Amino acid sequence: MKITDAQLKQIYTHAAEIYPHECCGFLLGQFADGGFVREVRRATNQNQDRTDRFVISPEEFAKVQMSADDAELEIIGIYHSHPDWPPIPSQTDMESAWEEVFYLITSVHEKMPLNTNAWRLADEGIRRFEFVPLEIVDQNEL
Ligand SMILES: [Zn+2]
Repeated sequence: MKITDAQLKQIYTHAAEIYPHECCGFLLGQFADGGFVREVRRATNQNQDRTDRFVISPEEFAKVQMSADDAELEIIGIYHSHPDWPPIPSQTDMESAWEEVFYLITSVHEKMPLNTNAWRLADEGIRRFEFVPLEIVDQNEL
């Protein structure tokens, strides 16, 4: 999946602001050619009780879906942070994941975003995440 350096920085800024809670948001773009991100959109994490969960309200989801439609984009992915935890999907991430959608996870250690991995549910076989290589591109290349 392609993402620009600037978009990744938006996610890192969000992740650092929300720490020690999980940040979350949408990746709008196109699924074509392995997927590329056109826009990063913040979401509000409705879960304030725990630092290892994120919940996006159906209302916010519907709103973003509508504006994506207007812009002729799709919700191709969801990003969230893992405070003091590696960028590997949790059991909860697995259970709540949708097919086809990319899951971008940023690991944050003491407010410092460290690294990001992308994942997607496997097409076949048992339910599991597959690693998706991230290609960080210049704005101009899109
Ligand atoms: Zn997670």
